[in-house]
Amino acid sequence: MDLELTAEQLELREATRDYADRVLRPAASRLDGLDTAADFPWELMREGTALGLKALPLPRELGGRDADMVMQCLVVEELAAGDLSAAYFFRHYWRFARLVPRLPAAIRDMVVHGIAHDERFVPASASTEPQAGSDNALPYDAPHHGATLSARRDGTLWVLDGRKSMITNGGIASLYFVLARTDPTLGIRAGATMFAVPASTPGVSTGPLYRKMGQRGSPQADVILENCRIPLEYAITEPGDGYAASERGLTSANITNAGMCLGVARSAYEAALDWSVDRVQGGKPIFRHQLVAQDLGRMQMLLATARSSLHAVAWEYSHSRGFHPQRSWQVRVFAAEVAIEVTQKAMLLFGGRGIMSDHPVEKLVRDALTLTHGNGTNALMTMKIGTHQAEERAAGRGHDGARRSTAAEGSARS
Ligand SMILES: Cc1cc2nc3c(=O)[nH]c(=O)nc-3n(C[C@H](O)[C@H](O)[C@H](O)COP(=O)(O)OP(=O)(O)OC[C@H]3O[C@@H](n4cnc5c(N)ncnc54)[C@H](O)[C@@H]3O)c2cc1C
Repeated sequence: MDLELTAEQLELREATRDYADRVLRPAASRLDGLDTAADFPWELMREGTALGLKALPLPRELGGRDADMVMQCLVVEELAAGDLSAAYFFRHYWRFARLVPRLPAAIRDMVVHGIAHDERFVPASASTEPQAGSDNALPYDAPHHGATLSARRDGTLWVLDGRKSMITNGGIASLYFVLARTDPTLGIRAGATMFAVPASTPGVSTGPLYRKMGQRGSPQADVILENCRIPLEYAITEPGDGYAASERGLTSANITNAGMCLGVARSAYEAALDWSVDRVQGGKPIFRHQLVAQDLGRMQMLLATARSSLHAVAWEYSHSRGFHPQRSWQVRVFAAEVAIEVTQKAMLLFGGRGIMSDHPVEKLVRDALTLTHGNGTNALMTMKIGTHQAEERAAGRGHDGARRSTAAEGSARS
């Protein structure tokens, strides 16, 4: 494992940090106030787009940087240290950029052109439904459970009907990747297919934006498909392969989600560190009080440990064979817990100011609390780690009841 950062990684991290400090952090409270899709602040994202941040994992010949997962984690931490919602905005493109080599030509051209030339090209990934959240993430692999939005063949078209729930970029997206059930008599692993659905397709509509406690500048809405007819080539997986594609996307998203957790936590830690030097109580800067110094020490220890383990997992994801998704669950869950503990410790070190609604740390606490749900809950991911461990042990003993619940090793990458 080689975790020495390259000159290109260091340079891009520096440029992203500069953009986040100058443009995103000062706009954090504006992003926090986003109410409707029409108010989305496109102009804040322009400099990041010019830096090439949307195209990081795209192959170089298509205008990207061929960035490995370590580079993606470095960049997303810097963005989230500026503002979590802006980090979500850029990170969302990466799942689609990674898929580009596997996409049918029509959709590939749409994605590559959109990323390079169209500020309003925004992708979204739609799996969750009102009755199917954790059942997709686990998955609960039984007929009629998990995502049931239906897709049926009608001559030269696919016809999609159903509702997706809490979809990030819902309302501003121009292209949805939709997990749909093509065979309801099978479980979701074999009965679902992934489709690309342009938002302009007749029959596509979105609900109002959800109002959330944190990451408020990242819009979520329900997406409704009614008799939505798309060409056959908009099926972006073979029939029945949709769940595996979705799972691969979630594995990479878990890793970058962990990077976002670190950005939020670091921002709170840095603010608390400055404050501990400047704030005087009991006749000395508060860091001279041992309890405060101990808090600062623990925050730094959690951050450094989470970052080391994240970069190791990111490197394994991109460069080592036999990567298993449980590594992505581990870093995502741990980093979300770190973000919650570090932001809350920071808030307490600011005393009464820490809970004032115009204080930056108050927003960071709210943002951190939203980080335990994306791609499945912390509870579910932790349970899956335990199940996987026990299944491996059972299989090693030749236990005939061992049942695989996760993707096979080596097939987890997009
Ligand atoms: C900010 C945000 C952005 C999102 N963006 C997207 C997106 O872009 N695309 C998308 O498709 N979805 C998105 N989601 C949805 C997200 O993936 C789901 O919220 C998540 O999978 C959990 O599903 P749920 O909310 O329906 O909770 P439920 O599945 O109803 O779970 C409720 C509780 O029960 C527990 N639980 C459920 N099943 C089990 C079980 N078998 N064993 C033990 N405990 C269990 C859970 O841990 C949880 O505590 C987003 C959600 C949020 C909050």
